[in-house]
Amino acid sequence: MSEDSFSRRLLTWFDQFGRKDLPWQLPRTAYRVWVSEIMLQQTQVITVIDYFQRFMQRFDSLQSLAAASEDEVLHYWSGLGYYARCRNLHKTARLIIEQGLNDLPDNRAALEALPGIGRSTAAAIMAQVWNQPEAILDGNVKRVLTRHQCIAGWTGSRAVQQQLWPLAESLTPEQRVADYTQAIMDLGATVCKRSRPDCEQCPVADDCLALKNACVHSLPTPKTKKLMPEKFLRFLILCNDKQQVLLEKRPPAGIWGGLWSFPELELDEAVNQYCHQKLAMRVINTEEQPVIKHTFSHYHLFITPTLVQYEQDSDKIMQQREYQWYHKDQSHALGLAAPVSAIIRSLS
Ligand code: SF4
Repeated sequence: MSEDSFSRRLLTWFDQFGRKDLPWQLPRTAYRVWVSEIMLQQTQVITVIDYFQRFMQRFDSLQSLAAASEDEVLHYWSGLGYYARCRNLHKTARLIIEQGLNDLPDNRAALEALPGIGRSTAAAIMAQVWNQPEAILDGNVKRVLTRHQCIAGWTGSRAVQQQLWPLAESLTPEQRVADYTQAIMDLGATVCKRSRPDCEQCPVADDCLALKNACVHSLPTPKTKKLMPEKFLRFLILCNDKQQVLLEKRPPAGIWGGLWSFPELELDEAVNQYCHQKLAMRVINTEEQPVIKHTFSHYHLFITPTLVQYEQDSDKIMQQREYQWYHKDQSHALGLAAPVSAIIRSLS
């Protein structure tokens, strides 16, 4: 395979078909590229665009992000999932400001030392913002390279990574690095797609080994599927006479860390006892709603929303733990997990 030829063909293709008007490309600052790269981890461009634009309208600089509360930053991330990304983004913004800096560092090692920035993300920032010849290896690039070079094995394994990184480095050109980086991501997203790749339109089809060996559809090799565990829990839905629901702030780590959610308990836990002890209230009646299934990367969660009629002293609740009454039209921004938002919307 000719390395120059690979990047040259890709750049020629990019000039005609590549994406040059994505919101984070206009203008392509370190702050904007960083936020976009974090949002794009495990998430498609089409989903990220709206989130990115809303996020930039509210937090137009590293300084404004650092100055915001975690609740508000999580609010603008609500629905994107993988909330550790958001908490790390916020933490990193604060860290940079605390260090007396105005912007992200312009070297890869310093970027990788920051929370939430791995090798590929650091390289993407270096390449796209400062045009430095750093190789990236995100999901799209892995798909293109494993197919083009017919590399079998799960791309998350050390053995495959040890083949992919040197390959990605050897293909990255010295010139037009920002365009090349965007080009290979675009090729993976729009031509060398996961299902139904459009090999006839591919600029590097001539020497694609997967195409030659008729194994395009078996690459990249999927991770061996383990049976996903299932978990069950109950959400308590408590509404007051102002059409507000009671929410509880979740611990900073774990699923939906730092977000606001309904008080929750195990399915076999007694609702009456829980409400009495934790919420200082007396249950009059409960009514179970249809079960909601939510799938995380590593397990399925089955939620039983349960409407609770109660008598209570709300002041006691507010004093006990981190609770608040929340109205869906509330101007105060909170981060809510997707199932929590869906339940709140369904109540109105
Ligand atoms: S020829 Fe097909 S499989 Fe090979 S890199 Fe291009 S789109 Fe992917």
